[in-house]
Amino acid sequence: MARPRLTAVRGVRDVLPEESRHWHGAERLAREIFARYGYGEIRVPVFERTELFARGIGEETDIVSKEMYTFEDKGGDSITLRPEATASICRAYVQNGLHNRPGVSKLFCIGPMFRYERPQAGRLRQFHQIDAEVFGSVDPAVDAELIVMLMEFLDAMGVEGLALQINNLGDAECRPAYAAALKEFLREETRHLGAEIAERVERNPLRFLDSKDPDHQEIIARAPRIDAFWNDDCRNHLEGVCRLLESAGVAYEINPRLVRGLDYYCLTVFEVTSESLGAQNAVCGGGRYDGLVEDLGGPPTPGIGFAIGVERLLQLAGEKAPAQDEETQVYIVALGDAAQAPVFELAAELRAQGVRTERSFGGGSMKSQMRRADRSGAAFVLLLGDDEAAKGVVSVRHMNESRQTEVRREEISSYIKDNL
Ligand code: ATP
Ligand code: MG
Repeated sequence: MARPRLTAVRGVRDVLPEESRHWHGAERLAREIFARYGYGEIRVPVFERTELFARGIGEETDIVSKEMYTFEDKGGDSITLRPEATASICRAYVQNGLHNRPGVSKLFCIGPMFRYERPQAGRLRQFHQIDAEVFGSVDPAVDAELIVMLMEFLDAMGVEGLALQINNLGDAECRPAYAAALKEFLREETRHLGAEIAERVERNPLRFLDSKDPDHQEIIARAPRIDAFWNDDCRNHLEGVCRLLESAGVAYEINPRLVRGLDYYCLTVFEVTSESLGAQNAVCGGGRYDGLVEDLGGPPTPGIGFAIGVERLLQLAGEKAPAQDEETQVYIVALGDAAQAPVFELAAELRAQGVRTERSFGGGSMKSQMRRADRSGAAFVLLLGDDEAAKGVVSVRHMNESRQTEVRREEISSYIKDNL
């Protein structure tokens, strides 16, 4: 009896080589552009103490209350697979004493995130983010520079039709008054929506504005807006950011109803969306978290960052996504047993010269080997058989021009390199 076939768990996916080329292209582009802006890569672990996320992101958020992959390890510690990178990067920033370095710290991180969500188009349980963070300054120029870098990257990825929305969530001085006014309004207006909503309104009324439920949209549209509560600092901060975005030629829209799903944000928040993504339309979200480092036990340190969803990004970029050159350039076909050893050697020689070389294994007819060669996408197919061996040559097929020529064995490497 056949054993049952094993499959991956729900909500995760495999990335095959033809798609990986685009992942490498995106990652390389991010590294290149971010380095130009002074960012260094930080690699933080994929799991942390549960407490880090519970405290950092906030117990009330969807992420912490519903979506975390949390388990007890064999030592009895509560561990969580990271649902996002910011909290981990803040921890690492403090733990490694980066706050003692002069000037701002600019860090980026690329890798998988884990959230127990309902799998659907654009929503996975393991997905990937490209994340960038700046610590150490409240200057609006930091916010603007980060957003300009983000838009430059998205543009270089070949993504079109994006909308950048920006808002200011207020600071410790003006947000409480806004939250109080919003709570009062929502208490009345959401009375009919049940106990769970009522509880959320009591605990964190701003979260209601993040609701995607169509029935809530009419209430949200009538709710008090943060812009009526901004103090001078907040207004000036937003204006400062916007002025710099304009000078950089970055289009944006101020959306006073934009809030983000995480509790730690203050002042600037932003989101990049695309109509063509459908219901899951956000490709990137970000904002300031000036209290987070301190909440996690570090010195008071302002910070701002963003996270791009890689799967959604690549879906948007489609064929325009830059791909790393990884395809086979040369494919070697061996005709007859006598050719096996010379083929092994020839492949080694070409690879040593930096040529991406594949060869057929296990022999087979000329026809079946040529089919494999064709499928490899190689621009050149080299044929080695008895005839060639006797003459000291290699037959070279130019696949894109459908012509064939003979090249002396000792000249083959330089011939290929000249013709690639
Ligand atoms: P959403 O509103 O779509 O749930 P979010 O506010 O939870 O997004 P963030 O935590 O800000 O998202 O993450 C930043 C980006 O990561 C999102 O804009 C999205 O592109 C991507 N992302 C978030 N959750 C998922 C997921 N479950 N599957 C795939 N991509 C995701
Ligand atoms: Mg979410």
